[in-house]
Amino acid sequence: MPVYADHAATTPLDPRVLEAMLPFLQEEYGNPSSVHAWGRRARMALDEAREVIAAALGAHPQEIFFTSSGTEAANLALLGTALKHRGGARNRFLLASLEHHCVLECADRLREWGFEVEFLPCTREGEVLARTVEEKISDRTLLVSVMHANNEVGTINDVRSIGRICREAGALYHCDAVQSFTMLPLEDAFEWADLISLSAHKIYGPKGVGGLFARAGAFPKPLLLGGGQERELRAGTENVAGIVGFAAATKLALEDPGRWERVRSVRDSFVEALARNRRVQFTLAQWEKVLPGHAHFRIPGRKAETVLIHLDRRGIAASSGAACSSGSIEPSHVLLAMGFSPEEAAEGIRVSFGKDSTRADAEEIAEALAEIR
Ligand code: PLP
Repeated sequence: MPVYADHAATTPLDPRVLEAMLPFLQEEYGNPSSVHAWGRRARMALDEAREVIAAALGAHPQEIFFTSSGTEAANLALLGTALKHRGGARNRFLLASLEHHCVLECADRLREWGFEVEFLPCTREGEVLARTVEEKISDRTLLVSVMHANNEVGTINDVRSIGRICREAGALYHCDAVQSFTMLPLEDAFEWADLISLSAHKIYGPKGVGGLFARAGAFPKPLLLGGGQERELRAGTENVAGIVGFAAATKLALEDPGRWERVRSVRDSFVEALARNRRVQFTLAQWEKVLPGHAHFRIPGRKAETVLIHLDRRGIAASSGAACSSGSIEPSHVLLAMGFSPEEAAEGIRVSFGKDSTRADAEEIAEALAEIR
């Protein structure tokens, strides 16, 4: 039986989500900007979806903006904020060095536009400490971006403290919650964050749909111009079916709060099985501040691609968690930021479990890894 253990990369569409989406791919094809009945029904579906996402965060529906992805949401948060404040007294961005590429790749553009960008270091456990933010923040800081939980190693940051420090310093706080949305209580991030990026496909929703929470007063400038959709913040006809799917996936996750504890128990059984393999070195020493489905490790002397090819031959999907360009895996910028050498960083393997993973899956992956000589 094939084993899919790459849920941090993406998750399968929940059949119940597909069911919710189907009418909007078929008979309910109206454009939500149209005034006729078809349009009004599509608009109503969008409004309902916006309410679901807003309620999941504790936000007001008018603070939710749908995008094409988590990537677009983060780009809008950073670049849109930069456009809005260009020429102002605050001209510095602080970005955590282990952010997702959708944040890090904004740095060059920000510099081109005359902003200063500084990267915040993290600990060996992949945590960006609130203390570090406190040390670096100043009255020239416009925006700080520190993700809620890291996609590669799964480390969870103290976003409440970080957000509070930002608020006190008068800087905006962007929190990438793509990996944690519905998995961790978001009140922590929500109370203090001004901008939160979300994505549907990590929670059994469709790919190509994301959302940005922007607190009233912290709305960025739009990057996409056109028909003024999403209250002038993100032009382009909305992906109605996708957005309905995003809301359905969110609802299902919130209705099943035990989901992540089940995932955690599968992950823990995997860690236990893998700990018997003396060649394996876990990347993190502590498991309390780690997402429930993540397990990250190395087999010293074995490149990630060798291990992944072996697993793939056995029908097991795992990941290096790092960018893959022209068939070879680049050393992970996350592991480098955590202080691993380039050689070690090229050995990192991420196994990420999901709601339908089983202990048998965990056992099978551990067995397949034991075969590596
Ligand atoms: N941020 C994090 C932490 C992610 O893991 C991802 C997806 O891998 C993204 C942002 C980008 O989201 P999307 O795939 O919807 O563009």
